[in-house]
Amino acid sequence: FYSVDKQKPRQKRGFLFYKSDLLSFLSYICVLMSEPKNHIVIAIDGPSGTGKSTTAKMLSKNLGITYLDTGAMYRAITFVAMSAGVTPSDKEALLSLLQKTVIDFDSNNQVLINGFCQESAIRSPEVSEQVSYYSAVPEIRSALTAKQREIGNKHSCILDGRDIGTVVFPNAAFKFFLVTDLKVRAARRYAELIGQGKQVTLQEVEENLRLRDSIDSSREVAPLLKAPDAIEIDTTQLSIQQQVEKIQAIVSVVA
Ligand code: C5P
Repeated sequence: FYSVDKQKPRQKRGFLFYKSDLLSFLSYICVLMSEPKNHIVIAIDGPSGTGKSTTAKMLSKNLGITYLDTGAMYRAITFVAMSAGVTPSDKEALLSLLQKTVIDFDSNNQVLINGFCQESAIRSPEVSEQVSYYSAVPEIRSALTAKQREIGNKHSCILDGRDIGTVVFPNAAFKFFLVTDLKVRAARRYAELIGQGKQVTLQEVEENLRLRDSIDSSREVAPLLKAPDAIEIDTTQLSIQQQVEKIQAIVSVVA
């Protein structure tokens, strides 16, 4: 641009301007046009089985924004570690796995691990049993939190998880915290797993939810917590459709 700057200034309507000014102005307009307009982040947190994922998925379709299932990311790295025989205490091996593992989603929100769909594997009872131990590891949390922020900063996004409104996006425009009676959560999750052909009992499902809630709430880093400014919604008596309508009504009024 040096040669352009050296060109003679041209007089126009009383203003002096250089070609380089015009180029800068045009590139500024291009940047403005490529910036996402009305970028919003919606955080949905809460214990396991409160319907966060299904609700968030439906909302993302209705609102035309990206959906990010952060629980699937923790499940994915748990599955990878378990398959490699790496325990949550082996930090060095976990770091190396994190570096080698690419976690992504296809257009149907199915999780891809190094390019292969592993949706069913990450939802297995074995992964559900172990995931809270792996997700309490600070190294895993910081790697996945960075990835979640990268996605949420790039696109308008609805994310569901445990620490979205408190840690990942504390400045999210909208924060919701879903709660549901444990027995109702267990019954819903049990029906879902049986529908997928998984071999589980209602007691096992309830015990798994109780244990995960307890580990997720008591870990040192980014525990499951309601952000002080999150709107709490009790979904015990609500259908998924009603949950979606309730949240969408709030988002539409304020946005
Ligand atoms: O949402 P889902 O039940 O699939 O999450 C599985 C597990 O992943 C949770 O029990 C929790 O241990 C972990 N998780 C987390 N932080 C998130 C999302 C999930 O620790 N933001």
